[in-house]
Amino acid sequence: MILKRRQFHIPSQKFCPTLAALATKPPAPELPLQLSPDAALYLAGINREPPMTHAATPELDAEERPFWPAVRRGWHRRCPDCGQGPMMRGYLTVRDSCPVCGTELHHHRADDGPAYVTILIVGHILAPLILFVYSHWRPEPWTMVAMFSTGTVALSLYLLPRLKGAFVALQWSKKMHGFGNGDPHDAPYDN
Ligand SMILES: [Zn+2]
Repeated sequence: MILKRRQFHIPSQKFCPTLAALATKPPAPELPLQLSPDAALYLAGINREPPMTHAATPELDAEERPFWPAVRRGWHRRCPDCGQGPMMRGYLTVRDSCPVCGTELHHHRADDGPAYVTILIVGHILAPLILFVYSHWRPEPWTMVAMFSTGTVALSLYLLPRLKGAFVALQWSKKMHGFGNGDPHDAPYDN
């Protein structure tokens, strides 16, 4: 039995508008293609990972904000960015922006964090110290009160603004609460 080969119908340009359009379309001019080294290696099959695109690396993420230097500057109540401008206006009020470099600081949300850590540290230092002093020397009650009240208040007043500076610097370094995108709708925070 002889099987007749099936004949496929190939539309001619005359009847197919798409083919006709392709046939009449002039070839696209060759543009000089500029590839980044990563893209060239990827296209050559050497790199398996596609090159990073702009969408994968937002502009702001390229800006490095080292964590510990920022926290150290914050601890000294200096601007976490330049380390020169004073962060606080008065004892505990964070400025809206650095007077030296202009970095916006009003995005911070330190809230109760510095107070919490201050109590945590002061409590863990003073409570064992009170117990130790009392059990070893048994001073007069008023001596205990005077000594440890003064010590507690002094240590708290010393730690609180420094811890607040460190908190603000931490949030700046981690680009929290508008520190990363400079959201204009993020209103100044009076605290
Ligand atoms: Zn600054």
